Amino acid sequence: MQEPAIIATDNTINTEPSIKIGLSACLAGQNVRYNGGHTQSKLCLNTLSKYFDFQTFCPEVAAGFGTPRPTMRLVGDPNAPGLEFSNGEGKDLNAQLATGISAILAKTDNLDGYILMKNSPSCGLSRVKVYQQNGHPHKDRTTGLFTQALAKKYPLMPIEEEGRLHDDRLLDNFLLRVYAYSNFRREVLNQPSMFKLISFHSSYKYLLLAHNQELYRYLGRLLSGSKKIPLEELTQHYFEKFMQALGKQANRNNHTNTLLHILGYLKKTVPSPARQHIVEVIYKYQQGIIPLTTPVTLLKHYLQQYGSNYINEQRYLNPYPESLNPLTRHI
Ligand code: SF4
Repeated sequence: MQEPAIIATDNTINTEPSIKIGLSACLAGQNVRYNGGHTQSKLCLNTLSKYFDFQTFCPEVAAGFGTPRPTMRLVGDPNAPGLEFSNGEGKDLNAQLATGISAILAKTDNLDGYILMKNSPSCGLSRVKVYQQNGHPHKDRTTGLFTQALAKKYPLMPIEEEGRLHDDRLLDNFLLRVYAYSNFRREVLNQPSMFKLISFHSSYKYLLLAHNQELYRYLGRLLSGSKKIPLEELTQHYFEKFMQALGKQANRNNHTNTLLHILGYLKKTVPSPARQHIVEVIYKYQQGIIPLTTPVTLLKHYLQQYGSNYINEQRYLNPYPESLNPLTRHI
C-alpha cells in the first residue's frame, strides 16, 4: 500500500502552526493515474505548499489497482453506485476499493482539510458521472467513493476540488475554513472548557458576522448559558454550526456592515475627517470599485495604533496568513 508522502514546506515563509492537508496524489505530481501519468497542480505545489504540509494519497493505488490500469467508472444508482472497469473486464470493484479507502482513513485524523482531483470515480467531489446500461450517464451526478467515505468520517472538514480553488472567492473561503477548523481543533477541541469556547467565539465574532448573521446570533445565544447543555455536547454543536456559518460566503453588503462595525472602535480615538475617509473607502469597496483588501488594510493601520487588543485580535482582519492575500482578497 502506498505510504503518504509529504511535500516540502518552506518554513521560512510559513510562520503559522503546521497545517496538514490531504491531497489526491496525482495532483502532487505522482504517477498514479490509470495511464501512469499525473495531473500536477501548480497551485498546490508552488503556492499552497508554502503554508500546508500536504499528505498525499491515491485510493486506487492503495487498494492494489496497478499503474497503469484500465479506467474505472461508476455505474447504476447515483445514490449507491457500483464501480467497474470501463472496458467491462472487472465488475463490482467496490469491495477492493474499500480496502484502500479504509487504509487511508486510518491515517487522516490529523488533517485540517482535503484537496481532491475532479471527475474521478474515487476522488471526485461532485458531478461524477454514473453510467447506465444504455452506455449513457445518468442525469444525476454523484460524489466519488473515496470522497463519500472521507466526508462521512469528517463531516466538518473543509474539502474542495483543486479546479474550484482557481476561483479567488472559493479559494478564500476554503483557506479561512481550513484555518478556522484547525484553530478550533487546537484551541478548543483539544481540551474543551467554557472559557476556551467563549474566547474562540470572541475572536471569530466579526468573521461570523460577515458570513452568516443568523448563525452569528445563534452561536452567541448558545454560549450565553441560557440553555443548559453538557460541555461536550455544546462544544460539538458549536463546532458544527460554526463551520456551517463559515461555509456561506460573505457578500459585499455583509463585509461593508462588518467593516463599519469595526470602524466604530475608532470613534473616540481617530479624528472625524480620517474616519470619514475610511467610510468613503468602505463604500467604494461596497460599490465594487476597490477590493476588500483596501479598507481592511486601512482599518488595520489605524487599529494597530489606536485599537484595543480585543479588536486587533479579531480573526476577520487576518483569517489566514496575510501573504496569501494577493491571491485571494480581490473579493
Ligand atoms: S484521482 Fe484519486 S484515485 Fe485517481 S489517480 Fe488521482 S489520487 Fe488516484
